[in-house]
Amino acid sequence: MLAAGIAACTLFVDRSPATQPIHPNLNQDTSPSMNITKAPFGTLPDGTAVSLWTLTNSRGDLLKMTDYGALIVSIEVPDRQGNRTNVTLGFPKLDGYLERHPYFGATVGRFCNRIAKGKFSLDGTTYSLAQNNGPNHLHGGEVGFDKLVWKTEELRGDNYVGLRFSLLSPDGQEGYPGNLSVQADYLWDNEAKLTIRFTATTDKATPINLTNHAYFNLGGWQGGVIHNHQLQLQCSKYLAIDETMIPTGALADVAGTPLDFRTATPIGQRIAQLTATNGYDHCFAVDGQPGTLRSCGMVVDPKSGRGMEIQTTQPGVQLYTGNFLNGSDSNGGFKLHEAFCLETQNFPDAPNQPSFPNSILKPGEKFEQTTSYRFLVVADK
Ligand code: BGC
Repeated sequence: MLAAGIAACTLFVDRSPATQPIHPNLNQDTSPSMNITKAPFGTLPDGTAVSLWTLTNSRGDLLKMTDYGALIVSIEVPDRQGNRTNVTLGFPKLDGYLERHPYFGATVGRFCNRIAKGKFSLDGTTYSLAQNNGPNHLHGGEVGFDKLVWKTEELRGDNYVGLRFSLLSPDGQEGYPGNLSVQADYLWDNEAKLTIRFTATTDKATPINLTNHAYFNLGGWQGGVIHNHQLQLQCSKYLAIDETMIPTGALADVAGTPLDFRTATPIGQRIAQLTATNGYDHCFAVDGQPGTLRSCGMVVDPKSGRGMEIQTTQPGVQLYTGNFLNGSDSNGGFKLHEAFCLETQNFPDAPNQPSFPNSILKPGEKFEQTTSYRFLVVADK
């Protein structure tokens, strides 16, 4: 069904149709060509050493990640001719990530996206968070999870290599209540599927919303604007927003709007209509039942033939088209619309919006969300 929307322009050459379950058992035999290597990536101003891991699957596709921000540095997958290129934006060295970069590839928390006016109330107490995006709180505050060094463990399974990033976010960090223990598993399998699994527990009720903020360009990191990428989203509704990008609470139909990607459409076809946001910067509700792994959408770059299929358990997905990329050094030199993000997540401002899916984690509960990005190649027209 997902493929049907894209079939109008392409035919799949999907060499790996099976969606294999992930076996979280460690220390298993790994096929000889699968590999994890670790190298120094630089040091923080306080002297903390940061590493770069390179994960190679049995096809030779690469995933590079660092423990600084548990962030994706590159994903190298083949085009139609078999040429492997990095399809994410980032920096070659740690230094770039230490500047105020736009969350390239980062694991974002404790609450990704926005909380209105940096305030929420829980059990009769009002909490104040950094207002670091106009009047609102964005992506966990001044020093969010994207700027912390995570403890890292290597994972090996039958058909994947992976990394387990862990973090203890202390009570009061960035204004959030409760000691929060977070794990982010990034598994890179032999079908070039990246599975991201977040889990967390807390000792006090706290809002939580975790995402990965990878910027993709399936034409390659130097591929230029992504207007020709075909996007299909399994999303019939989006969240209406006010002028500060806080949801009004209304779930609006995508039908008849530039946000209708129910059938594959070039990202650039209607992008000029989004004048207030200079492109897409909208949260969609993913059709189907939150909490179950279901199709979120698919992107295809017709020129290179690279495709990416997304599944998620999360309630929503933020489509962001790099509207603030301005070619500056802190943006890695990347310019307007040279990438797209599909950040799976709970709805923005959920702690203040009773009609939105629950975003409060309580002691004794386990937060658990899974998203996968599977890379594939489609045939020429
Ligand atoms: C937000 C954008 C923001 C970008 C980089 C996205 O998730 O929706 O408004 O500019 O992240 O911070």
